[in-house]
Amino acid sequence: MEQTTYYHEKICLCKKCKGTGEEVFYAKTDYRKEYPLKRKCSQCNGTGRVVVSGQRVLNVVPYEPGKPTDTAGTV
Ligand SMILES: [Zn+2]
Repeated sequence: MEQTTYYHEKICLCKKCKGTGEEVFYAKTDYRKEYPLKRKCSQCNGTGRVVVSGQRVLNVVPYEPGKPTDTAGTV
């Protein structure tokens, strides 16, 4: 039996930039990470907030002792 949980649209703090709207990165040649560079966060487009929505599907079956559980196809 499948159980679906829906997540309504919700404004969350962007986890990629921690709400700053800026992403810190280092040039590939900057091996010692001495010169941090900043760019607009690609996930929140510089706002520091993102709208999260979606759904999760759970596959629920009775547990039968001694029988190996078939997890194929479940997330
Ligand atoms: Zn961000």
